[in-house]
Amino acid sequence: MEPKEKVLIVDDSLVQAAQLRSILDEEYEVTIVNTAEEGLSQACSGDYSLLLLDVIMPGTDGFALLKQLQEEAITKHIPVILITSLAAIEHEQRGLTLGAVDYIVKPFHPLIVKARVNTHIKLYQYRKQVEAQSMTDQLTGVPNRRRHDRYSAIKWQEATRLQVPFSVCMFDIDKFKMYNDTFGHPAGDKVITSVAKTVAANLRRSTDFFARYGGEEFVAFMVGDPSEKAFRHLSYIRKTVEDLHIPHSAEVSPWVTISIGGITVFPRPDSSYEECLKIADAMLYDAKKLGRNQVVWLDENKKQLREY
Ligand code: GH3
Ligand code: MG
Ligand code: MG
Repeated sequence: MEPKEKVLIVDDSLVQAAQLRSILDEEYEVTIVNTAEEGLSQACSGDYSLLLLDVIMPGTDGFALLKQLQEEAITKHIPVILITSLAAIEHEQRGLTLGAVDYIVKPFHPLIVKARVNTHIKLYQYRKQVEAQSMTDQLTGVPNRRRHDRYSAIKWQEATRLQVPFSVCMFDIDKFKMYNDTFGHPAGDKVITSVAKTVAANLRRSTDFFARYGGEEFVAFMVGDPSEKAFRHLSYIRKTVEDLHIPHSAEVSPWVTISIGGITVFPRPDSSYEECLKIADAMLYDAKKLGRNQVVWLDENKKQLREY
């Protein structure tokens, strides 16, 4: 059986929250919180398919929470339905303009609430499915560049807030043009796939992300590791690719190899992910210049770490 979709109810009225829960409980996994503050942190941490927001709450109200949710990269895609006794047309207009997908005026009819929730969850599921397809690289099955662009923005924001080290690296297969010229393009495709699967298998923690950036280039980021650890792990991955022993005709090694350039930083609001990516690319360029099949890294103190 498919796991139930998750619905978050944010409502200061325990009675109304319980009533909504009883309407949705059978079909969905329902969580209730009673303040906007809890609503924001739940929405950021849980994997919700829909939010039901009460508008009038003490402290931060539903409109303000909706605005916050729309500003957070991690929550802005979650559909929000406002449930309120504010029947005036300007309130409804305000809610819908702020980005709510629907507006239900109290007193509500249980079956209508249920029908509207069902519709928005179906739309959300469909959107997620289409997105998942459009975010996967067809050749290798690993995330593609679009997924990288979306996800890196979310994770960078999160790491900036949590003040944890953030590592970014670029990979490039060595002398790959020569590989194609020698063994043919279809064989080259197989190499790209083997390399992608090998790296992905070694970057599988929930704090790691790996994608095909384009052609024979890949990108990865890791959250929480100091540079020394990230550098050593990527050095291990580089070695693991070489140890696949895929024969190559280039002079770098008898086997297919990769070069990696990376950087570890403490993200700050005035620094950017794109900047880090650029530096990782510059480190990759150094790795190529230094003879390929190696990792070059820039640590937190802007000191370059090399394997040889
Ligand atoms: P370097 O060691 O400096 O990276 O040399 P290189 O030959 O790998 O670098 P270059 O960027 O000149 O060549 C990259 C090659 O990758 C050229 C292109 O034909 C090949 N390539 C890019 N995408 C694909 C792909 O999807 N499949 C195959 N088979 N080859 C690809
Ligand atoms: Mg290249
Ligand atoms: Mg290359």
